[in-house]
Amino acid sequence: MNAPLPPDACPPTSPAELLRRFEAMRAAFAREPNPDASARRDRLARLLAMVRERERDFVAAIDRDFGHRSSHETRLAELYIVTAAARHALANVRRWMRPRRIATPIQLLPGSARIVPQPLGVAGVVSPWNYPVQLALAPAIGALAAGNRVMLKPSEVTPATSALLAEAIAQRFAPDEFTVVIGDADTGAEFTRLPFDHLFFTGSTVVGRIVAMAAAENLTPVTLELGGKSPAIVDASADLAVVAPRIAVGKLLNAGQTCIAPDYALVPERMVDAFVAAVTRAVRALYPDPLAGDDYTSIVNERHYDRLVALIEDARAKGAKVVTIPDGAAPDPATRRIPPTLLVGATDAMQVMREEIFGPILPVESYAKLDDAIAAVTRRPRPLAFYVFAEDRVVRERLLRETIAGGVTVNDTLWHFAHEELPFGGVGASGIGAYHGEAGFRTFSHMKSVFSQPRRTAAKLLYPPYGSTFEKVLRLLKRLSG
Ligand code: NAD
Repeated sequence: MNAPLPPDACPPTSPAELLRRFEAMRAAFAREPNPDASARRDRLARLLAMVRERERDFVAAIDRDFGHRSSHETRLAELYIVTAAARHALANVRRWMRPRRIATPIQLLPGSARIVPQPLGVAGVVSPWNYPVQLALAPAIGALAAGNRVMLKPSEVTPATSALLAEAIAQRFAPDEFTVVIGDADTGAEFTRLPFDHLFFTGSTVVGRIVAMAAAENLTPVTLELGGKSPAIVDASADLAVVAPRIAVGKLLNAGQTCIAPDYALVPERMVDAFVAAVTRAVRALYPDPLAGDDYTSIVNERHYDRLVALIEDARAKGAKVVTIPDGAAPDPATRRIPPTLLVGATDAMQVMREEIFGPILPVESYAKLDDAIAAVTRRPRPLAFYVFAEDRVVRERLLRETIAGGVTVNDTLWHFAHEELPFGGVGASGIGAYHGEAGFRTFSHMKSVFSQPRRTAAKLLYPPYGSTFEKVLRLLKRLSG
């Protein structure tokens, strides 16, 4: 039997309590600085069991927080992703932990070298609201696999899910092993001031910058998983029947509230009409009734709903053609649903091309030559994701070579995220560092270099007092190292 849902509003964790829990974690880590594989696997197994057992509660809590969240999307994009990540870590953590032997060059023989992964200590995780379970637990999986203790601060925008995470984690983990801190931006600010051994933040670029500054005070290393405008370039060689549903699915999952959603599309001038017609057809088939159907998700709160409606109105006023699907559907403030909307003829003058959209709106920008499309991507801050649609292999390779982005899916959207062994992260304004699979394990480990010197070694030939032996050995060393 599942426990009843906890109340939405958990009292925020006080600064004194934050510090107390942090100190308790530090002490616990000092007692067990290098948990063996079975201790780590036990923690991962408990996390996995927690997600499996509380599936219905998580679905209900997220639905409550969003007003409406497709239960299918919660089960796929939150719970399945997390359980797959936990299972992958369970299967591989023993191998990830193994010290790696490194070949020793002749001049350092007979010494030997290895790299030994070591837990860092206490890791802090700050997570956003858009996938409130997945983006809280997936980093925690990397941190636990690496042998750390974890403090998590989930988003205040999704309070039912945060309260449920706090309760479910407390049921399965000792408070000095893995714990949840409740609170808003102020609590977040207190949290990120703690001298963590690693701080992992997922959220906006604006807050990411503040978090990086707070961490710098303690020289705490950070991973920043941020957002941005992820483009989809459609090449003239692309098959629109393939492209349209794939862009539509990437855009409309979670009603566009996805960090790696294709933010805008760049389409050859002469294909714009056909592209709009193909996407419209695809969206109609995917979401026949976006204003009432169960499969379509609401916008998380009024602030974001109002922001998105204003983006559409601003684009309309500045000359974009607004195509709503189905034709004539209007945003509904009561349910906070916004029908899928294309903005044809989007330009840089429109606000929608100046900020991350994070909603079911797809601006369509046209281009004359591929060079122009590449320039449209490279003149903007480096995106988290980039989508290339082209049948022409030469074009695909060129687009990959000439643009910089956190990750890429070729001829589809989102899928690079789902591959556990592809490091996931941004570059430039879209983030620092990466996780998922072994990349997550490494993010939360210190990869310690160890050189072992045997009893007999020629190293003393380089000791002072310096004289002709030193000169001969240095000459030899120079020759040996090319
Ligand atoms: P946000 O930056 O507003 O908040 C994220 C978290 O930071 C929340 O827990 C919040 O309480 C906390 N916070 C707020 N102010 C803080 C401060 N001053 N100090 C410390 N913590 C603070 O982001 P959001 O609105 O929850 O999420 C949406 C953003 O996250 C989008 O930009 C999206 O692209 C990005 N995102 C990125 C990824 C990724 O994997 N790269 C995934 C999801 C979302």
